[in-house]
Amino acid sequence: MDFRLSDDHTMIADAAARLADDKLRPLAETLDEGGGRAELLENLNLLAQNGFMGLNIRGEYGGTEAGTVGFALAVNALARACASTAVTVSVSNMVAEVIQAVGSPDHRATYLPRLCDGTYPAGAFCLTETGAGSDPAGMRMAARMDGNEWVLNGSKLYITSAEYAGLFVVWAVTDPDAGKGRGISCFLVEADTPGIVIGKAERKMGQTGSATNEVHFQDCRIPASAVVGEVHDGFRIAVSELAGGRIGIGALALGIGQAAMQAARDYMLEREQFGRKLADMQGLQWMLADRETDLEAARLLVLQAAWLKDKGQPFSRAASMAKLFASEAAQRATYTALQIHGGAGYVKDYPLERYARDARITTIYEGTSEIQRLIIARETLKAVA
Ligand SMILES: Cc1cc2nc3c(=O)[nH]c(=O)nc-3n(C[C@H](O)[C@H](O)[C@H](O)COP(=O)(O)OP(=O)(O)OC[C@H]3O[C@@H](n4cnc5c(N)ncnc54)[C@H](O)[C@@H]3O)c2cc1C
Repeated sequence: MDFRLSDDHTMIADAAARLADDKLRPLAETLDEGGGRAELLENLNLLAQNGFMGLNIRGEYGGTEAGTVGFALAVNALARACASTAVTVSVSNMVAEVIQAVGSPDHRATYLPRLCDGTYPAGAFCLTETGAGSDPAGMRMAARMDGNEWVLNGSKLYITSAEYAGLFVVWAVTDPDAGKGRGISCFLVEADTPGIVIGKAERKMGQTGSATNEVHFQDCRIPASAVVGEVHDGFRIAVSELAGGRIGIGALALGIGQAAMQAARDYMLEREQFGRKLADMQGLQWMLADRETDLEAARLLVLQAAWLKDKGQPFSRAASMAKLFASEAAQRATYTALQIHGGAGYVKDYPLERYARDARITTIYEGTSEIQRLIIARETLKAVA
């Protein structure tokens, strides 16, 4: 077994880290305070020009072919500088992967180059509704055929990047009489389609630089060809694509935790109390050791899940474990790092309080920790049976 990254993977991680340091980190605080939208869009374009918007997409569509390991490493490096930008990149890559995995040749040829080259600043993944979060099969949004068009009616909630996405992957009920989760289809909707209304922007605890909105579909007409995969088979697509997305969120959470602990390490080496460095105090050393062990375990889980996906092996259990562990490790790491900074951790002159707020959502979106445990238990019991 060889735990070293390949040269290609190292190159991707280094390139992402350089871009993150040069462009993302200097903007992170401004984004956190609610400004910098134009600069965020410039950065998204730069990320696209550098191949970060189609990391696991084939070269013929403008993708980077970096695989899932490359995707995870890139999102991780970006998140160490700016979680708001990293989540936009992670979700947009997930949208591209849906199209590559189950889109028609026309969908791939039309939309993948636009997502990869930055023509679309981002893609949006529209699954959640007011009454359907952890249980998306309970969705109400409807799509009915009228002539040769689908007509979408309903609302989605908490949609990442809705304000600047060029393309929406949208799930809607196409057969209300089918059993739960059976009569749902998946559609591609271009942002300028009449009938899409971007609703309320959520005011959030963290990751405030990324847009999160309600999206309303009001008699929104799209061609029959906008269905992705088979009609009524959309729920299966959502479930399987979310598993890949969880690797991205695990990598992102890990990045925030790593940034926080790196700051804590630096602070311990510099700050003195009682006539000695914080680094010389065993109580703090143990806190550091526990969190570093956590983050290393999270890193290995994320990379293992990514590797399994790249090898075409079942990876849903591993992806849930990676997302669960990395997101919870990120809570521990950001709070420990904040504590190690004392009062400096709590004030906005340092990024520690932002890291703690940015990490918080990672145990919630793309499936809460409770839902990850449910998946892990189900898969484990299935394996035993
Ligand atoms: C900032 C942000 C960005 C988001 N981005 C997107 C996006 O781009 N696209 C999208 O479609 N969605 C998005 N979401 C939605 C997100 O995925 C959901 O919020 C999440 O899945 C939880 O759903 P919910 O909020 O309805 O909580 P609920 O499902 O109502 O859950 C409430 C609580 O009950 C627990 N719970 C629920 N069911 C069970 C169970 N069976 N067993 C044990 N516990 C359970 C949950 O874990 C949670 O603690 C985003 C959310 C936020 C806040």
